[in-house]
Amino acid sequence: MVSAAGAQTSGRTDEIHALLEDVKDPEIPVLSIRNLGIIRDVSFDGDVPEVVITPTYSGCPAMNLIEAQILEVLKRAGYGEARVRTVLSPPWTTDWIDEEGRDKLRAYGIAPPETASTSKLVLFGEAPEVKCPRCASTDTEQVSEFGSTACKALYKCRSCLEPFDYFKCI
Ligand SMILES: [Zn+2]
Repeated sequence: MVSAAGAQTSGRTDEIHALLEDVKDPEIPVLSIRNLGIIRDVSFDGDVPEVVITPTYSGCPAMNLIEAQILEVLKRAGYGEARVRTVLSPPWTTDWIDEEGRDKLRAYGIAPPETASTSKLVLFGEAPEVKCPRCASTDTEQVSEFGSTACKALYKCRSCLEPFDYFKCI
């Protein structure tokens, strides 16, 4: 498929994108960083791939881990000199999580984030309407502002009585 002549730039960046599928969110291992929508760009500087990412939220220790994983995955594929560049603008929002990622979150028992406009309500102290990932009931209540990690809130479903995490990153 790869033609020797012209070293197909798009083919090479496609290969990098495919490799990045193996890099998972350290906090939610069912999500790849592509699902999270944090990969802004993949390019080549000569033979050195450069991956541009936008952190999910500032101060998230997981981001250093993600950067290390990207370099590790690329190194295993023979790209010992890969680079990861972080771009902070525009800021990441949960709207960038793709549909597949939202489905995976539900299957994992985490309510996917509501849209950005809903999330902003949280900033003003109003809890958004959160759907139970198990039974889809909206009759839910926030038990704690902090779930299993700082970016998740602990909720409880009043219909099926199951507690669940709500991914509240904005
Ligand atoms: Zn429920």
